[in-house]
Parts: sequence; structure tokens; C-alpha cells
Amino acid sequence: MGESYEQLLDRALEQVPKAVFESARFQIPDADVVTAGNRTVFRNFRAVATSLNREPDHLAKYLLRELGAAGEVKGAQAIFQGKFSNATIDERIKRYAEEFVLCRECGKPDTKLERRERVYILRCEACGARASVRSV
Ligand SMILES: [Zn+2]
Repeated sequence: MGESYEQLLDRALEQVPKAVFESARFQIPDADVVTAGNRTVFRNFRAVATSLNREPDHLAKYLLRELGAAGEVKGAQAIFQGKFSNATIDERIKRYAEEFVLCRECGKPDTKLERRERVYILRCEACGARASVRSV
């Protein structure tokens, strides 16, 4: 018998320079934000949620709470009541990634957010670490 698919895959992945591999997988696009009247339209909201590998609803809930704003998700966009700058939104997204995406132990983004009853567990698929995170 030859090597299993997993063994072949592991070996192939080992040959990819690590830094290239990691940066290619975790790039959060800058928030594309425009204000219209007293509202802020976060135009690439869904793309940002996808890059974070998180449910858009979870990210939206976090942002609304952190911004202290009302708002809604509409298609690819999120719309907030009030005026918020790109920098403000980017800063919140960075904090979201630190709290709900990046592994506490190894710093990698290969994590899953799992709901257990009333708590959320951040489980790392790279190193196996688990951490409980607050609910949003
Ligand atoms: Zn880890």
C-alpha cells in the first residue's frame, strides 16, 4: 500500500513556504465604507465576513454592538445608523478577528466557532487548542 491521501497532502503542504501559505489564506479586505446622510454603508461587508470565515450575522451583531448602532445586513452590504469612518470599522474588524477568529495558542486563523449550549468555543484546527469566547 502506498501513502494515504492525508499523508500525501501533508507532504505537499510541507513543501509550501509557510509564510506565503498563511498570508495567502488570511487577508481581510479593508472595509469599503461610505456615508450617506446619517447612515453608513459598509459595502464589502459580506466579503469581509467570508474572508474571516465567520457567519455574516455573527459579525454584524458584533459590529452593531461595538458601534452602539442600529443597522441591518442587506445583501452584500451592512447598513448602520450613524456615521462611522473606514478606520473605525477596520479597527473593530481587527478586534473581532483577534477575539473570534485567531487561535489564542498558535495565532492561526484555522479555527471554527462552535456553539455549545450558551457558550461559544473557538476551536483551532491547526493545533487543537480550544478557548471559550463571549457571546455577541
Ligand atoms: Zn492553534
